[in-house]
Amino acid sequence: MPIFAPPLRDHLFTLYELLDFETHTRLPGFDHCSRDVIEAVLEQSARFSAEVLFPLHRSADEEGVQFDNGTVTTPKGFKEAYAQLVEGGWPALTADPGHGGQGMPHMVNFLFEEMLNGANLSFGLFPGLTRGAYVALAQHGTEDQKALYAAKLASGEWAGSMCLTEAHCGTDLGLLKTQAAPKGDGSYALTGTKIFISAGEHDLTPNIIYLVLARLSNAPKGSKGISLFVVPKVMVKADGALGERNAVSCGAVEHKMGIHGCPTCVMNFDGAAGWLMGEPNQGLKAMFAMMNTERIAVGIHGLAIAEASYQNAVAYARDRLQGRAPSGPRDTAKPADPIIVHPDVRRMLMTQRALTEGCRMLALWTAQALDVSERHPDAAFARQADDMVALMTPVVKAFLTDCGSEVANLGIQVLGGHGFIRANGQEQYVRDVRITQLYEGTNGIQSMDLLGRKVLHLHLFDSFAKPVADFVTTHEGDERLAEFMEPLAASHDLLEDATRTIRERAGAQPNEAGAAAVDYMRLFALTAVGYLFARAAQVSLPKSNDDFHRAKLATARFFMQRILPDTASLHAKIVAGAGPVMELDEAMF
Ligand SMILES: Cc1cc2nc3c(=O)[nH]c(=O)nc-3n(C[C@H](O)[C@H](O)[C@H](O)COP(=O)(O)OP(=O)(O)OC[C@H]3O[C@@H](n4cnc5c(N)ncnc54)[C@H](O)[C@@H]3O)c2cc1C
Repeated sequence: MPIFAPPLRDHLFTLYELLDFETHTRLPGFDHCSRDVIEAVLEQSARFSAEVLFPLHRSADEEGVQFDNGTVTTPKGFKEAYAQLVEGGWPALTADPGHGGQGMPHMVNFLFEEMLNGANLSFGLFPGLTRGAYVALAQHGTEDQKALYAAKLASGEWAGSMCLTEAHCGTDLGLLKTQAAPKGDGSYALTGTKIFISAGEHDLTPNIIYLVLARLSNAPKGSKGISLFVVPKVMVKADGALGERNAVSCGAVEHKMGIHGCPTCVMNFDGAAGWLMGEPNQGLKAMFAMMNTERIAVGIHGLAIAEASYQNAVAYARDRLQGRAPSGPRDTAKPADPIIVHPDVRRMLMTQRALTEGCRMLALWTAQALDVSERHPDAAFARQADDMVALMTPVVKAFLTDCGSEVANLGIQVLGGHGFIRANGQEQYVRDVRITQLYEGTNGIQSMDLLGRKVLHLHLFDSFAKPVADFVTTHEGDERLAEFMEPLAASHDLLEDATRTIRERAGAQPNEAGAAAVDYMRLFALTAVGYLFARAAQVSLPKSNDDFHRAKLATARFFMQRILPDTASLHAKIVAGAGPVMELDEAMF
């Protein structure tokens, strides 16, 4: 039977020991975040995830959602669990207290989302999308829109959904066709069909608030002519009461590889009433508030599944008896030793562990910058943190979801043939996590965003490179840290060189950045995780008389010696350039 136990000890290490959360809570608005409160929040969210959501994880996968003439029924137990989620105030953790929220740090919410999605990814998508809709509305909605929707979205009483994709328009949103015609009363009639809409229709909430991208009739072609609209499933009266059903309906749900408990819907807008959010033709800018929130959230989904898969792989490896340890039998009373004795199984478990802990540090470091960008009283500090968040958002999305998939596949491998069998749970992790590399912009597109936009165009590289370079310089010559600092310095040099090389070539060679992007993303992310493991080692060395810190040091060593060296081959691939990628004539494929 699959297991799930939120890794609270590592959460507390990452928050308090690595990232000095005590100091972080001195930011304005965090006075209520004493250590007692935060530990209680994490313990309760661990209990809710493990006891309420995890038991529904496999049954929801088996049962899926039911579609019947426009209505969608979620798997058994989801409605009751969702009611408990709202009752517990969980969706409102980071929401503005003015909208009934708790104003908690993003760092805490990231850990909550890791637990929630590790326990049940399909379920986690509902509050995740709602939070994204709330964030966009809070940033770009009019006062009237906020008055109608913000508190209901913040609490999760109503759900949110994001409607971008159309059949002919996925990555290239400039192609979208959904039309918005003014009705003369300040509202618009939206007409068009959106596909692949997560949680577009369901029975968890009495209303769903869609954020829809559409075109005004006189809009310029391409992405400069896209506007954002807020469209309720059920009309909302001025006093907040629910009125008639709006002209939006679900035409079908997709049958898909994973996340069976979350409906992926075809949504038809047949003259549905909608209201403009943000400026006309500036819809993508407003939508990015939701998309950036979702991108980081999807990265957390990768981390969440990695953790879940790792835990199950360890439990199996301790239990399964096959062969004898190369160094001699471990337990002669038994017919064989547990497979955890075998170096190759250890290699897989250590890779899972190091990537998972590394992803957690990367996510929380980014969350810390997000809190600082929103709350630091010094504008220069806040702007610097904002640059860092912009740079790291595609890294968190792409690297964490790539690792989620890699770790879950290793999870199957550790179990051997039993990993391929449904009842053992690992194959569901592989199926569920696979979508995270695709939606919210494929990881190829995220890599282009990192390299093409954030590094080459916006010149944000230094907001990451400087703290790393400073750390390397400060600890140069520190013998105790040398085993961590030397590999970090080497990969940082490779990253700097790759960045310089692409910068020099990109102007004259238009295919260069695209050909390098995915390898650059991984080189960047591994260097970032190397930096964080070096910091984790620095914190852990003086405490290495306890098991937790000894294990952290061993994991950091494994990362430095067995994963970080991949940066050399990534660098070699990047500097090889676009030539070998583009040489073959299209007709020869
Ligand atoms: C289960 C599921 C849930 C979803 N939920 C939602 C949702 O809630 N709301 C919503 O609006 N959408 C949703 N989507 C849509 C999702 O975001 C898109 O599928 C995704 O953005 C990719 O678009 P596409 O599938 O059309 O692929 P395409 O855009 O056709 O891309 C195909 C391939 O070409 C590559 N490619 C495309 N353009 C470029 C380029 N310029 N440069 C380099 N490579 C390129 C891509 O990386 C990819 O490998 C969902 C999809 C699924 C499957």
